Amino acid sequence: MLPETTKLNAFPVFMRVEDALVVIVGNGGEALAKARLLSQSSAALKIVADDPDAPLAAWIAAHGAKHVAEAYAPHHLEGAVLVFAASGDAALDKRISSDARAKNIPVNAVDRPELCDFFTPAIVNRAPVCVAVGTEGAGPVLSQLIRAKIDRMLAPSLGGLAVLAASFRDAAERLLPKGSARRRFWNDFFEGAPARALEIGHLAEAHEAAAELLARRTAAQGHIALVGAGPGAEDLLTLRAQRLLMQADVIVHDALVPEAVVAMGRRDAERLPVGKRKGCHSKSQAEINELLVSLGREGKRVVRLKSGDPLVFGRAGEEMQALRDADISYEVVPGVTAAFAAAADFELPLTLRGVASSMVFTTGHDLKGGTLPDWGKLAISGATVAVYMGRSVAAEVASRLIEAGLSPDTAVAVVENASLGDRRLFHGTIADLPALEGRDELTGPVMTLIGDAVAGANFGKSEPLAAHDRLVAAKQGADA
Ligand code: SAH
Repeated sequence: MLPETTKLNAFPVFMRVEDALVVIVGNGGEALAKARLLSQSSAALKIVADDPDAPLAAWIAAHGAKHVAEAYAPHHLEGAVLVFAASGDAALDKRISSDARAKNIPVNAVDRPELCDFFTPAIVNRAPVCVAVGTEGAGPVLSQLIRAKIDRMLAPSLGGLAVLAASFRDAAERLLPKGSARRRFWNDFFEGAPARALEIGHLAEAHEAAAELLARRTAAQGHIALVGAGPGAEDLLTLRAQRLLMQADVIVHDALVPEAVVAMGRRDAERLPVGKRKGCHSKSQAEINELLVSLGREGKRVVRLKSGDPLVFGRAGEEMQALRDADISYEVVPGVTAAFAAAADFELPLTLRGVASSMVFTTGHDLKGGTLPDWGKLAISGATVAVYMGRSVAAEVASRLIEAGLSPDTAVAVVENASLGDRRLFHGTIADLPALEGRDELTGPVMTLIGDAVAGANFGKSEPLAAHDRLVAAKQGADA
C-alpha cells in the first residue's frame, strides 16, 4: 500500500460543460473570480446577484452572462451541472451547498472546503489543451506558482498545434505503422517544423510542414536556432529561448554565456563550448560554421547560444550564410544585448528627448584608421554610443573623439558584467576613459556608453573612473 500522502483525495477529471448551465451565487470579488475562471470555458454562466458590486456588474454587462438580480432561492440552481457558492456569507454559502447537494449537483463554496464537492484548479489554458493544477487546498499561492512555471514552458500556439494535430490524426493512422514510425512523426510534429511555423503564426506553413513530414517519413530534419542568451542573468533569457533550450539535442555555446544559462537546456542535450574569449580561440569561425552545418545534416535540433543578441557583434551573419548555402533550416531568436543591460543597470536613458535621438552600436576598433568613421560624427552630433569589446581600445576611442570635436566633458558610463550579481559600475567623462585600460582587475566583459544622455543615469551605485587614475598616480608618487 502507498503511504497515505501519495493518494489524491481530490481526483482531477475534465468535465464537459459546453453550453451546460453553471450557476454562481454572489455579489462581489469572489463571484467575479469564479465567473472569470468559468468564462474560459464554453459553459452557459448564470450569475445570481441581487446587489452586484460595480466590477461584477461591469463584467456581467461586458460578457453577456445571464444575470438573475434576485435574492438567492433554491430554484435558481435548477438544471445546473455545477454550482459555486461565492456569497462571502457563511450561512448563505452553507444553504446553497446543501441545496445543491440535495439536487445532486456538485458544488464549490469559496474558501469553505468542508462545503465543497470539488475544487477549482489553477489552469494553463491553451484550448483545447489544458493543464490543471490542484493542491487540495495546500494553498492558492502554490498553485499559482506552479501554474506560472508551466505557462512559461508551453508555447502560446500550443492550442492551435493541438487542433492541427487532430486534423492529421486519421491520415497518420492510415499512413504510418503503429509504433516507432508513428511516434517519431508526432514527435517531429510537436517539436519540429510544424510547431515552429505555428509559433510564429504561420498556419498554412505549419500545415504544409506537417503534410511534408507525413509524406517523407524519413529521418528528422535538422534545425539550427541562433539564440540570444542575453547579457548573463538567467532570467533575462526570452521564453522562446528557454523553450528551444528545453528541446535541443545539442547546445553550441560561446564562452561568454554563463554556465547557469547553458544549464537551462535539456538535461541530456549535448553541450559543445566553442570558446572565443579574447585571446583564446578554441575554434575558428570557419570550424564553427562547419560544425553547425554537420549537426544540421545529422538531423539534430541545435541551439547556437550566443551572448546578448545574436545579431549584434555575434558573427551570426557568417553562420547564417553557411546554413543557407548548405540548405539547412534555421531561425533567429533575439536576446537582450549588452548595451541594453548596461543601460538598465545604470538606469540610463539611451534616447533622451531633446538630448539624444539616435544610438550607435560600435566596437571602437574601426577608430584606428586615419579618418573618423561615420559613427564618430554621429557621436559628435549627440548620439548615444555603445562600445562593445572596447576596453582595450578605450584610450584610442576617447582621444579620437575628443580630437574630432567631442567635448572632453561628455559623460561616460562603464559596466562590467552587466545584469549579473557581481557587476561593477563606473562613471566619468570621456577624458577619464583611458583609465579603463589600466584596470586589469576588470576580468568580465565591459560595456562603455558615451554621450550626453548618459548624464541622465543614476550614479548612486557607481564609482568614479578617474579615482583609480588618481590612486595609481598617488601611489606612483609615493613610491618615487
Ligand atoms: N552579441 C553580444 C555582444 C558580443 S561581443 C551582445 O549583443 O551583447 C562581446 C562584448 O559584448 C564584450 O566585449 C562586451 O563589450 C559586451 N558584453 C557582453 N556581455 C556583457 C555584460 N554582461 N556586461 C558588459 N558587457 C558585455
